[in-house]
Amino acid sequence: MLLTMPAAYAGAEPVLPTAHPAAVVDSPSIPAARQGGEPRFPVCGPFNWGQEAAAFGGPRGGRSHEGQDVMSRTGTPEVAVTAGTVLETGNDGGRGNYMNMYDPERKLTYVYMHMNRPPRVRAGEDVEAGQRVGEVGCTGSCFGDHLHFEIRTGRGAEGAASDPRPFLERLARQDHIPSTLPPGQN
Ligand SMILES: [Zn+2]
Repeated sequence: MLLTMPAAYAGAEPVLPTAHPAAVVDSPSIPAARQGGEPRFPVCGPFNWGQEAAAFGGPRGGRSHEGQDVMSRTGTPEVAVTAGTVLETGNDGGRGNYMNMYDPERKLTYVYMHMNRPPRVRAGEDVEAGQRVGEVGCTGSCFGDHLHFEIRTGRGAEGAASDPRPFLERLARQDHIPSTLPPGQN
């Protein structure tokens, strides 16, 4: 079924930041940033957990997948999961548009990859839980629009990776964001 729907993979096309002004980008579904820093699910819209390769530890051509993919539509807002500090932003052929942020309370670094355009935050910037940091896309090495999300021990993206799924599932429940996006619609 997926192969019959190439048009659905809009993220494979060149990124044109002004092509769709406010179409999905300023979705009204973004909950306000919370006072008190309660963690927030990073994707503010319909999503699913994808297939085997989307899971932490899933097969990736001889390597194992170091994050959890959250499959969602291009343009769906992404927010900081906790309060913290942006460590790094950039763009390359693997990660696409990416961002790393440090959570000093938990001493963890969160990595966001494949955003559809450069992140809305800069290195050195402090962010609140729930603050908009970018949008879902499929830049870099990617098939099917999604957020690739990693949790790394300590400050920086070089720390040991752990499975983000339990944390993400808890946040999705808490934020009432159901994992019901039909496969192939991201
Ligand atoms: Zn991934």
